[in-house]
Amino acid sequence: MKKIMIYVVLAMLLVGCKLDPKPVGDEGRSQSVSFDLICANEINILPISINGTTAPKDAFDFSIAKLKKYTTDNVIVHKNIALTLNESDINHFIHDFGVSNNLNMLQESQKELLREKLNTLPQNSTTIVMIYTPTLHFTRSTEGRSLRGIAFGKRADQPLNVVAYNKVNIDGAPVISKNQAWKIVLTHEFGHRLGVPANISHNKAKHCTSRECIMYSSPDWQSVVSVLLLNGMPYDFCDLCEAELKDMKQNCFMPNILP
Ligand SMILES: [Zn+2]
Ligand SMILES: [Zn+2]
Repeated sequence: MKKIMIYVVLAMLLVGCKLDPKPVGDEGRSQSVSFDLICANEINILPISINGTTAPKDAFDFSIAKLKKYTTDNVIVHKNIALTLNESDINHFIHDFGVSNNLNMLQESQKELLREKLNTLPQNSTTIVMIYTPTLHFTRSTEGRSLRGIAFGKRADQPLNVVAYNKVNIDGAPVISKNQAWKIVLTHEFGHRLGVPANISHNKAKHCTSRECIMYSSPDWQSVVSVLLLNGMPYDFCDLCEAELKDMKQNCFMPNILP
């Protein structure tokens, strides 16, 4: 019994990722599955490592395999770009870049290095920039809530998919191993950019209502008992999210019936 209580308390601390601040009332709105990503001829991935931070290779490969499974299976992973930033500037940089493609927080040489590389990639939502960081908060400043990951939504000023990960929080996930935690967070953030959960029937604030889904927000005590203790943490999308992804994939190459 004591062991179960410890699991419950620890799992309560496993806070799921939160998206950018959402408009009030966004709790109950459907979203669209991403045609751009799922039907892309080619998806380009650019990993960025800040101050030497990276994801475990095994977890990275796992998440790329999932991405391939739900898209056209043509994912190109580019060489990691290494950036150095003052710890106090990291959060600011990620938010400015994630929201508006702004690299102003970088030193000139680093700005040039990244801009040059980005210019070789398609400037649209078939490019995913994955930023590994030693610190990540909800707000632009470092005073907000600490996050495991963030997926910036599609914006007029930022055509790329930008996702960022907080190594300290992921490595510090209770109960599961670092590698397991990375697998979940990496795949979860891809899920946000793929647009699942889509339908309001299982979508609450862009997280899945199914406890057995990798898009579930944060484990509550029921999920600990039903999922964590009995079946283990979810490493894939639930049947409903998977069906939404597969449905889009099947319709990617439907002949255009317009006259
Ligand atoms: Zn999330
Ligand atoms: Zn789901």
